[in-house]
Amino acid sequence: MITESKALAEILARVSPLSPRRATLAECVGGFSTKAYTATVPLPAFDNSAMDGYAISSADLEKGKRLRVVAEQPAGLDKNLNVQPGETVRIFTGAPLPTGTAAVVMQEEVERNGEFVVLSAQPQNGEFIRRRGCDLTEGQEILARGQRITPVVAGLLASQGFAEVEVGGCVQAALISTGDEVIPPGASCGAGQIFESNSTLLAGMLKQLSANVISVAHSPDNPAKLRREIDSAAANDVLIITGGVSVGERDFVQEVLRAAGAEIDIWRVAIKPGKPFLFGRLKNCFVFGLPGNPVSAFVTFLMLFRPAILKLMGASGGAFGLAKIRCELSEDVLNDGDRVHYFRGRHEAGRFSLVGRQESHALFGLSRCNGLLRLEANGHLKAGSAVDIETWE
Ligand code: AMP
Ligand code: MG
Repeated sequence: MITESKALAEILARVSPLSPRRATLAECVGGFSTKAYTATVPLPAFDNSAMDGYAISSADLEKGKRLRVVAEQPAGLDKNLNVQPGETVRIFTGAPLPTGTAAVVMQEEVERNGEFVVLSAQPQNGEFIRRRGCDLTEGQEILARGQRITPVVAGLLASQGFAEVEVGGCVQAALISTGDEVIPPGASCGAGQIFESNSTLLAGMLKQLSANVISVAHSPDNPAKLRREIDSAAANDVLIITGGVSVGERDFVQEVLRAAGAEIDIWRVAIKPGKPFLFGRLKNCFVFGLPGNPVSAFVTFLMLFRPAILKLMGASGGAFGLAKIRCELSEDVLNDGDRVHYFRGRHEAGRFSLVGRQESHALFGLSRCNGLLRLEANGHLKAGSAVDIETWE
């Protein structure tokens, strides 16, 4: 059995980023940029109006002024207009500003009579003007290498005219659940049987990471059947097998993987929940054996699998861990075991409390949680301590 940090270091040492690809803006969200992008277009791109209204000159910043409407400036076409004292240009949101504009008066603050307007409120110098480059200037970095592309960042790339970006490879993933006792949801469940839930949980988490879930299969605890599933799943970049990774006579995963030609680098990690964890490689496929117990599968996915998939996808080093939020612990927490323990709980308004049974089968309890408290072996934390809670939502 090795420590969690050694296991993670070894996994990350073996995994290297997949080849980059070009992705359209629609495809790139959730991916990691493989190069830095800088702005080529300032935002706003030109001085423009923030309102539908009237452009006025600095000589006319006065309530009650009566101005002649001399021209109209729509959005989408720069008519290269100019405003003179005593005159105004009818203007629309996003339209280029006529030279000499000191302010745009919104149309609700004028009375219009034919070709004249009267200002019904005191205009302020500069109001409703959006200056070129006030948000973003040319040459500013908009996306760092290894940064995740969110919908907002994809929108920003679009605002720069990029139709495609270079992102890390898309991970092709396969899932195999194991166990004679587990049957698919929708079938009828006999005495002693349980519904299979890990595939649903793990496929959902894979999709949240923008992996392509290529296949989801189930094998009973039967070496020949398991071998067939493993052989066909090994064509992917990663394979997750849940259950059957432990030490019982019905746990065949390790033995079948070895028979299929896999190298097993890690088996059993000092982490709770999650000790029966396996990592190896079969041809070009990284194989992760996660415990059958749902909470253990969840925790090992986050702590040992997620960093690997992020590295495969081209994430930068700093992005491998979960986000942390500083909280005050609402109760004493003791880890009297010899493995690092991830306690499940909820953070809310800066306080963290344990939730549900801290047992590896307790999926309902987990469903009410939004954070993990990591506590080293033999660690003890007092109520009121400041702790960094790892979050996944
Ligand atoms: P195992 O790791 O195969 O010994 O399984 C540990 C526990 O997890 C047992 O109680 C199994 O019934 C349960 N389990 C295994 N696989 C699944 C699964 N896919 N969905 C839900 N529970 C499972
Ligand atoms: Mg089993």
